[in-house]
Amino acid sequence: MSQKFDVVVIGAGPGGYVAAIKAAQLGLKTACIEKYQGKEGKTALGGTCLNVGCIPSKALLDSSYKFHEAHESFKVHGISTGDVAIDVPTMVARKDQIVKNLTGGVAALLKANGVTLFEGHGKLLAGKQVEVAKLDGSTEVLAAENVILASGSKPVDIPPAPVDQDIIVDSTGALDFQDVPKRLGVIGAGVIGLELGSVWARLGAEVTVIEALDKFLPAADEQVAKEAQKILGKQGLNIRLGARVTGSKIEGREVTVNFTDANGEQQQTFDKLIVAVGRRPVTTDLLAADSGVNLDERGFIFVDDYCATSVPGVYAIGDVVRGAMLAHKASEEGVVVAERIAGHKAQLNYDLIPSVIYTHPEIAWVGKSEQVLKSEGVEVNVGTFPFAASGRAMAANDTAGFVKVIADAKTDRVLGVHVIGPSAAELVQQGAIGMEFGTSAEDLGLMVFSHPTLSEALHEAALAVNGHAIHVANRKKR
Ligand code: FAD
Ligand code: AMP
Repeated sequence: MSQKFDVVVIGAGPGGYVAAIKAAQLGLKTACIEKYQGKEGKTALGGTCLNVGCIPSKALLDSSYKFHEAHESFKVHGISTGDVAIDVPTMVARKDQIVKNLTGGVAALLKANGVTLFEGHGKLLAGKQVEVAKLDGSTEVLAAENVILASGSKPVDIPPAPVDQDIIVDSTGALDFQDVPKRLGVIGAGVIGLELGSVWARLGAEVTVIEALDKFLPAADEQVAKEAQKILGKQGLNIRLGARVTGSKIEGREVTVNFTDANGEQQQTFDKLIVAVGRRPVTTDLLAADSGVNLDERGFIFVDDYCATSVPGVYAIGDVVRGAMLAHKASEEGVVVAERIAGHKAQLNYDLIPSVIYTHPEIAWVGKSEQVLKSEGVEVNVGTFPFAASGRAMAANDTAGFVKVIADAKTDRVLGVHVIGPSAAELVQQGAIGMEFGTSAEDLGLMVFSHPTLSEALHEAALAVNGHAIHVANRKKR
């Protein structure tokens, strides 16, 4: 007799483990299946995000930024340190310890919430049955009222630069370098390429980012993207746009990359090459031929606005379905699906999912960019406030960038908040909270913001929308 569950979740990334915890909290008998084996050869929960994504990349970004500050900026504060050195293995080991603590924490949370964990590979069969191929080689079939597929994504490979996880690495390999490469190539100027490129550039690598598109950060507001390109360029990232990689050759301990750009064929040699050209959904051996679940034309599991697949009672969430490949999007989809299974009328506001690039300064936004709103024919008022005019930013010696608030010219409703600057991710979240409640720029302007804070830049940008900024000359007069 197979074990029966109200909900079986395949995958314990930020989509799957959150869905499982939420389902259990709602009184549903829940199982979660995870196959990933971490560095210690044991099942590690938390998916890409905790093991080889969000968290380890931020750990290295924070370490490398501290090194950079000590090296470059302490003297401005009158602090002298003598020689500052980086011990890369210690930095990487600190990252590994954080990952270990967090993945262990997820296991404890599943247990505390009464979720049954199965260690192995899950596969959806017909009739909402799920086969688990366990680590010991045995298999078990679970019967489920509902199944949530949360198998995530993995890096895209490109034939011109095959990953060997030694000289040519993907994002996972780039989190484990044991020393600083002298010459580092990065293919792809997306979020992951820029973040990982920044880590190693701060530690002294000469970094070249090779990007096929002519436009830098096309999803960001153009004003922000322009500023970002300028600032990151000054930091030493050599960003080559309109450059498509066509081949690579490893010789000894170096790799020569061929690419074409506006000037024709180019070649550059690196000690390490990171391939960061995007991620693709993981559906290998996930669905039996007669499971009834359909994929879309790009290989993602096809779902409706509520994450329901083509089979009633089977849902899919996170990176394996359409939409932004972000941990918070995966988790909130998990919550929505668990609640809908429990009979609630939950839904996700896909219009207000914040995006963040954790470079320094950070780049973050929520809602629409000025160029998108204009292309849609929406008349807007725009307010900006530079961190160069923020007392708090000056005190922190961190004045690059600005806050930009975009509001509907007719209703004053805020339609986008875009920030490049210190703590951009946290500031944008304030905009997201306001926008979820339908805030106008005037509403934000009427609120009291603590002084001196970086948040005041959001206040002033909101005031500037209608020509009311106090601490900067207004573009628009009242
Ligand atoms: P995943 O996290 O990929 O988890 C899926 C899990 O399912 C995996 O553990 C996998 O082993 C398991 N699995 C797959 N198939 C099966 C099967 N058949 N049986 C059993 N188990 C299975 N996002 C952010 O929001 N912020 C960031 O700062 C950020 N930084 C990132 C940095 C890097 C370097 C990378 C690579 C990604 C980053 N992301 C970030 C993206 C984020 O990691 C993903 O969006 C997120 O992990 C998606 O969650 P998920 O649960 O859908 O899938
Ligand atoms: P993202 O999908 O945001 O992670 O970004 C990946 C980036 O890699 C995109 O901007 C792509 O244009 C870029 N890219 C993909 N293939 C190539 C290639 N062969 N050469 C250079 N850049 C590429």
